[in-house]
Order: sequence, then C-alpha cells, then structure tokens
Amino acid sequence: MNRTVAIVGRPNVGKSRLFNRLARKRISIVHDQPGVTRDVVSTDIADGGYTLLDTGGIGYRGSDTPAALTAASEEQVEFAIATAALILFVVDGLDGISGLDAKIAERLRKSGKPVRLVVNKADFDDEKIDLAEVYRLGLGEPLRVSAEHGRGESELRAAIIEALGTAPEIEEARDPQKPLGVCFIGRPNVGKSSLSNRLLQSDRLIVSEVPGTTRDAIELPFEFIGRDGKSYPFRLIDTAGIKAATKLASPVEYFSRLRSLDAIKETDVVFLVLDALEGVTQQDKAIAGEAVKEHKPIVLVVNKWDLVKRAFKERGAFEPYKSERDYREKYEKALFDRLYFTPGSPVIFVSAVSGYEVDRMLNAAVKVNRMMDAKLPTAKLNRAIEFLTERTPPPAIGGKRFRVYYATQTGNRPFRIRLFCNREEQLSEQYRRYLEAGLVDEFGLAGCPIYFDLVGKP
Ligand code: GDP
Repeated sequence: MNRTVAIVGRPNVGKSRLFNRLARKRISIVHDQPGVTRDVVSTDIADGGYTLLDTGGIGYRGSDTPAALTAASEEQVEFAIATAALILFVVDGLDGISGLDAKIAERLRKSGKPVRLVVNKADFDDEKIDLAEVYRLGLGEPLRVSAEHGRGESELRAAIIEALGTAPEIEEARDPQKPLGVCFIGRPNVGKSSLSNRLLQSDRLIVSEVPGTTRDAIELPFEFIGRDGKSYPFRLIDTAGIKAATKLASPVEYFSRLRSLDAIKETDVVFLVLDALEGVTQQDKAIAGEAVKEHKPIVLVVNKWDLVKRAFKERGAFEPYKSERDYREKYEKALFDRLYFTPGSPVIFVSAVSGYEVDRMLNAAVKVNRMMDAKLPTAKLNRAIEFLTERTPPPAIGGKRFRVYYATQTGNRPFRIRLFCNREEQLSEQYRRYLEAGLVDEFGLAGCPIYFDLVGKP
C-alpha cells in the first residue's frame, strides 16, 4: 500500500524546513552536502507509518532564472502526482500567492490526488496573511503552520494521518505454520530423485501425511527439525511422476514439462541441483535461467560430494586440485562465473547418498524463505541506491545517464522495488544486475531475486 507523502511548492516557501520539522531533524544536512545532488530526499516517519519526500531538488539544472524555476517546480509536481498517496502543497504565508502557486494548484486539482494545502511562515500574526487568496486556490481549508517555530505541527501530523488512514499493523510475516514449498530442479542424473528420497527418509524428517497427489506433480509434506530445534513444515513438490518420460528428453522439453506442472511457481524456494564432478554445464545455466525468470529464490545444491571426498581419499591429490577445500573453492568460483545472473545464492555441497549436509540445505531454505518477507525501509533503500549509483555510475547512453530519483519497496515474494527514474529504457540488464547484487548484499538477501519496476519521468 502506498503511504508516501510528498511536499511540493515553489522555491523558498520552506519545503525542506517543513520536511525536517516532520522528520524531527534540526538542520537540513540533506541539501547542503557538497557534491551530492539529491533529487528527492526521503525519510521514514515511524510513528505515522509513512514515507515523507521532499521533491525540492528535482529539476534544477544550475540555472535560477524564473523560467528554470518554474520548469523545476512543474517537474516536482508531476513527480509527486506520480508517486505520492498524499501531497502537501506548501505556500508562503508572508509572501502571498504567486502566479506559479496558482498554476501548481490547478495542476494538483486536475490530478485528482489528495492534497493538503499548507500555509507556511504563519509564525505569529495571521493578519499578514491574505487568507482569501489562499482559499481561491481551490484546495480547501489551509493548514497554517510555522515550520520554523513549530506552530501547527501537531495539527499537520494529525491531518496527514487522517488523510492516509492509520498505519496498518506491521504485516505479519508469513504464517510460520504454512509449509515451505521446495522443489529440486536440474538436468537429468544430477540426483534430484535421490535427494527427494533422502529428505523423505531422513530421521530428522517426519513424513506427516499420505502424499497429496495432484494431476501431475506430487506434494509430499514433511517436517524438518531446524538447527534452532524448531520444527519446520515443508512441502516437497516432486515431479518424479514424469521422470521416466523426461529422462531422455532435452532440457528444453524437460522444462516445458516442468513448467506445465507449475512446479517452480508453486514453490517458495528452488533447489537447483548440480553435479559435483561434472561442474556447471550449459544445461545447468539454461535451467537456472528458468528459475530466475520466475523470480524464485534459489539455493544452489552441489550433489554427489561423496564422490569428491572419495576421490581425494583414494587418490590423494586430484589434479589440478590440492585438497577438498581447494576443489570446493574452485567449484564455487566457476559456479558464480557461470551463474552470475542468480542473486548471490547460497551454495551447499551435499550428498544424497551419505546424507552429508542435507540438513544445511534445508536450513538454507528456511533462512532464505524468512528473508523473503523482509521489509526494506525506504530511507535505507534510497541511501543504498544512492551509494551504488555513485560508486559505479550507470553508463551514459547518447550523452544521457540513467538516474534514479527515488526507490520504494512495493512488494514481497519476489521483492518488488519501484524505481522512479529519468528514463526507464536506459536501465541496462547489466546495470540492473549490479543494483540487484548491491541490494542483496546491503540487506543480506542472498538468493532472493529483486524485481525492479521502473517508472520513468512523467
Ligand atoms: P535425477 O535424474 O536428477 O533425479 O537423478 P537421480 O536421483 O536419478 O540420480 C542419478 C544417478 O546419480 C543415480 O544413479 C544415483 O544413484 C546417483 N546419485 C544421486 N545422488 C548421488 C550422490 O549424492 N552421490 C552419488 N555417489 N551418487 C548419487
């Protein structure tokens, strides 16, 4: 649900003062940092459960001519209309209403967006303010405030909450009793069926019911006692029923079958199974691509680790690898090189035959599944994006650079982040992956895909 409140108004009416007052910050550090141009300054207002935006930085191109200021204000208003659930339109009580104010008011009225009119600089005596002209803006009853001295602050806070409705209870993370759906995907013979069998037989797992059978895929409920001693219900979505038919099929056919079963769509976390001896193949890459396309979190499972162990035991060194650890490290590196498009997925080396680290694989799924419910605070998200775009700026295409004004999370499973940007067509796939990897890193979301929803300049 959108709980974004944008402050708009022509220059010098006191927008950033008001922003800081509502944010309970004493001074504006935000606009005064040299070298940092921030288009939109945002902060999360915890007690109101909303995000406040100061749009005053949008649209300046180094010129202070009246025409340039008018153009910038218009851009700010368009941005606010596109983003906000509520707009605070600030006018200057001492200066009076200008032509630009009237123009902004007209645009806001036409937009149909909820607007609260705020008369700022109503410091001490109201006689100085010509309320008649304020009413003529046609935006209803104005709120008289003094951002400087705090007059009207609590009324303004109350008006914002009244307009937005009270903050919803923090959404309960998914019901922990809802079974976590997993499936094994991978090319033939990597050990998907063996791993499924292992899970259903392991003494740490209790198969709790008779498998419920849908037409194609089978759902096998089981319980897993996690590292924390808690019991976690799982659903294994198994495609064993179609195995015979697909064993010889090409990966493309295999996948069209799997997709028709909606196995991936049904799952919360996908286990992509790889073969420890064979390494990452082109087929593995194609299959991983399918899971990525579905925006599902992926845990990379390298199976048949017992064979690697045995090779070292029997042959000592195993050219060109010096040790089991060396093998593991090189495998992991090759894996990330080839599957660079997966979002920093955890890698677990297991053996279906010996049961080695199978528990860790399930613990990883529990952890990833929990992360999928994370809420990314808007202000922190914007700081992260700002950091990432400053560290490695997007490439300029035709002299124009992709630029993010503001980001906000709009959903979970998968993470959806709306990016308000200058030109949506200019986010290259490579840069999108860079942003995804950066956010995964910043918020500790290893394995969770992030979907960016781009909103270009209105
Ligand atoms: P699927 O086609 O991915 O379901 O693969 P299967 O589970 O049918 O396994 C293919 C072959 O690999 C079988 O011969 C299994 O016995 C063998 N296999 C599976 N997992 C392991 C493992 O962890 N270690 C070893 N040594 N062999 C395995």
